Amino acid sequence: MDPSVTQPKIEIAHLAKSFGSHAVLRDVSLAVPTGGVVALIGPSGSGKSTLLRCINLLVVPDAGEVRVGSDEFRFGPGTRLPGTQALARFRAKTGMVFQHFNLFPHLTALANVMEGPLTVQRLKRPEAEARARALLAKVGLADKAEQYPSRLSGGQKQRVAIARALAMEPAVMLFDEATSALDPELVGEVLGVMRALAADGMTMVIVTHEIAFAREVADRVVFLRDGIVVEEGPARTLIDAPQHPDTKAFLAHFH
Ligand code: ADP
Ligand code: MG
Repeated sequence: MDPSVTQPKIEIAHLAKSFGSHAVLRDVSLAVPTGGVVALIGPSGSGKSTLLRCINLLVVPDAGEVRVGSDEFRFGPGTRLPGTQALARFRAKTGMVFQHFNLFPHLTALANVMEGPLTVQRLKRPEAEARARALLAKVGLADKAEQYPSRLSGGQKQRVAIARALAMEPAVMLFDEATSALDPELVGEVLGVMRALAADGMTMVIVTHEIAFAREVADRVVFLRDGIVVEEGPARTLIDAPQHPDTKAFLAHFH
């Protein structure tokens, strides 16, 4: 049997990461099946961003294993980062969306979305443009293609950022508090795009403080505290009936 059918799309095993003497991740394991959506929740400083960054090797783990699809990396004493090319290929497969958009201010929305396909994938300009226009349409911004980021709202900028990540045809998408910097009235349009992606079958890991959204869209929720997975389970079960006192205390803030 094809192992890709049964193997999780993302598999993280015994991941550890310290910054100096500060152990930020301690023996974290996590699996996301193909098409699965996992929400990562936890207090500020619990290691959520570091974990997400380890999944696409923006941060290099000290120990443990990271596998996305058929790309597998093991880390331990003495292991070095994979070569630049292997790393670039791997990162292109793991689309990352940040809290603060990080769009190129001197490029239009269209050019922002075309940039990766043109420079990293070496697509021809007409193909890159066709792909970018299709993706801008998909996030509801077909009419904003020629606008510069300074002329877009926060919600529109974040939707361009999602289109830009999708333009690299990633195997998985990672969202790090994609709506935390938005005015409340703009959160819904970005969550709507994320919800549609999940319904499309995209494999996703979402760091979020939108607990109702996690409950609705995620299959599983992982609660992280001090770099440890304290509790994880089916989204509704974990959010409606948390078992661990720390999970209960954390979720109580959202009622
Ligand atoms: P979260 O996303 O859950 O708020 P982070 O993963 O951003 O948590 O951070 C976890 C801890 O690691 C924090 O104490 C943070 O200060 C520390 N940390 C994160 N990145 C670095 C870094 N590059 N250098 C030093 N410390 C860092
Ligand atoms: Mg964070």
